[in-house]
Amino acid sequence: MANSHDHDVDDLLEELIAFRRDIHAHPELAFKEVDTANKVAQSLRDIGLEVTTGIGKTGVVGTLKAGNSSRTIGLRADMDALPIVEQTGLPYASCNHGVFHGCGHDGHTTMLLGAARNLARSKNFDGTVHFIFQPAEEGEAGAKAMIEDGLFERFPCDRVYAFHNWPDLPAGTIATRPGPIMAAADKFSIQVKGKGGHAAVPHQTPDAILAASELVSQLNTIVSRRIAPTSTAVLSVTQISGGSSHNVLPGSVELTGTVRTFDPQVQDQIEVAIRQVIEGVGIATGTQISIDYNRYYPATINADAAAQHALAVAATVGDAVEAPQPAFTSEDFAFMLQACEGAYIWLGQGKGGEHIPLHHPEFDFNDEIIATGVKLHTALVEDFLPQQGD
Ligand SMILES: [Zn+2]
Ligand SMILES: [Zn+2]
Repeated sequence: MANSHDHDVDDLLEELIAFRRDIHAHPELAFKEVDTANKVAQSLRDIGLEVTTGIGKTGVVGTLKAGNSSRTIGLRADMDALPIVEQTGLPYASCNHGVFHGCGHDGHTTMLLGAARNLARSKNFDGTVHFIFQPAEEGEAGAKAMIEDGLFERFPCDRVYAFHNWPDLPAGTIATRPGPIMAAADKFSIQVKGKGGHAAVPHQTPDAILAASELVSQLNTIVSRRIAPTSTAVLSVTQISGGSSHNVLPGSVELTGTVRTFDPQVQDQIEVAIRQVIEGVGIATGTQISIDYNRYYPATINADAAAQHALAVAATVGDAVEAPQPAFTSEDFAFMLQACEGAYIWLGQGKGGEHIPLHHPEFDFNDEIIATGVKLHTALVEDFLPQQGD
């Protein structure tokens, strides 16, 4: 059960806020987090941690030991920014035009660094902590890159945790749940090939536009007609392009979309159904239809014990709530949870009535939650790696 250690971190906050705003002003895209990684590595060395750089390209791991226990825990933060033009007007707004910390990873990096500082001075635990700073969470699978580079062989973890700031929850609220918490994200790209020709003689060419519109309708029936109503899934067609003139039937049309699921079986069913729809529409319209189907992030699934542990610990530092539903967005921490038991946690960051969602050009990480984040990381470590006699 969670300890009630004193987690006073107020003296760290001024420096942490300055660090967060510096990272915010100098954002870097996926796998280009060179300066950010250098700043993180330097800060970890300054407090005496063993530091390993270049894991999964730009990833950094800092290791801290105390006592004699062989037990280990990993804490992960993501470091990358998004290709968005920032519109916050903040004094510490991005100096790198078109690159922006619109998902709050600047805050995640800062909170994990704060926890490293706090734990390095208190050493109120028995075992090993690996502070994992990963690149490229935004669609480029930096977590997978670190794992393929031997993350968990080089830095074995009995348990791994990560959290994400969550604008839908009030600041100070901490939520997670056993089982699925974030969706699997698949993307598909469909090529419809007709022949192309004069629009006045449509009988001389298969109509790729008509086939594409048929596909949009049919694809939208998959979740409602092919998936059990008790299961949860989303399929959205998000892009359609083809054609150049009012009197030309185009030779090809392209469609793009995404599928979100929590259960690998449902994911399989949807992919099969999409392929069947394509085959059927191709036959019916005389077009050649091909698909590129890419499962880029699996569902993020918390281990029951890890989620319950996180909720118990969270109750000692904030308002802990069991999240009633998973989110339909996705997260590459999913790969770490496939390799290691752990949980993904939402840290409320809402400010009063203001609600700016993640990935919005006016989003900004709420510095008021840094203390809660540092305390939560610290408490997870102290509780998972208790000292003798605790
Ligand atoms: Zn994001
Ligand atoms: Zn994010």
